[in-house]
Amino acid sequence: MITVKNLHKTFQTLNGKLDVLKGINQNIEKGEKVVIVGPSGSGKSTFLRCLNLLEQPTDGEVWFEGVQINVPDCDINQLRQKMGMVFQHFNLFPHLTVLQNITLAPITLKLKTQEQAEQQAKQLLERVGLADKAEAYPVQLSGGQKQRIAIVRALAMNPDVMLFDEPTSALDPEMVGEVLQVMKELAADGMTMVVVTHEMGFAREVATRVLFMDDGQVVEEAAPDQFFTNPQNPRLQDFLSKVL
Ligand code: ADP
Ligand code: MG
Repeated sequence: MITVKNLHKTFQTLNGKLDVLKGINQNIEKGEKVVIVGPSGSGKSTFLRCLNLLEQPTDGEVWFEGVQINVPDCDINQLRQKMGMVFQHFNLFPHLTVLQNITLAPITLKLKTQEQAEQQAKQLLERVGLADKAEAYPVQLSGGQKQRIAIVRALAMNPDVMLFDEPTSALDPEMVGEVLQVMKELAADGMTMVVVTHEMGFAREVATRVLFMDDGQVVEEAAPDQFFTNPQNPRLQDFLSKVL
């Protein structure tokens, strides 16, 4: 579903060039749940953002569903419809109700009629236990509720893959579970997922493969059992000793 070949990303900064991604190669199959862990600043967010071209790769290739996407004539809007993304901060529109937040894109892009979009939104809200919040505004919701709405909003586009960038990192601890629960259900439904998280329990339980990023490279990848119980790279061993 996603193929990344020799992906490089360099940022220009006031102090010169910063090499953030240093040659990443990955193949993500349909239905896989890939969890990415690693220290802060290692390039995890930049990697995710290169997958849907929120960042333009400096070098290398990104392929999605058989088509190379980092080419000048890529239809970015179509690409983003197929790749849902959920961020640490929920980015809901404060002046729109929950229902309007969820239906805005499908209606504006004429993917659905208003009636169809609202019907689907209500089904999705039901699924995440927030059917009673359709007419609420984001300010009236808890962090966990907002993040579940952000997930629903992404799902309303019927994406083929969902990208999550630390979706629970900004939440109060008691709200982490409800968001992870929604993500687990999505995984069980067969969604292809790429998830950056510090939730090692989620990685163990849900991942088909865990990647460890350090200094712009994937330095280890394995099934969770192997990854957590028999890490090979000393930097991963050190990382796990701090987070587990
Ligand atoms: P992570 O998500 O693993 O914490 P990031 O991908 O956010 O790491 O960042 C990796 C490095 O790239 C950091 O040093 C960060 O400061 C730098 N970086 C990220 N985005 C930009 C940008 N737009 N301009 C300059 N530097 C950036
Ligand atoms: Mg990040």
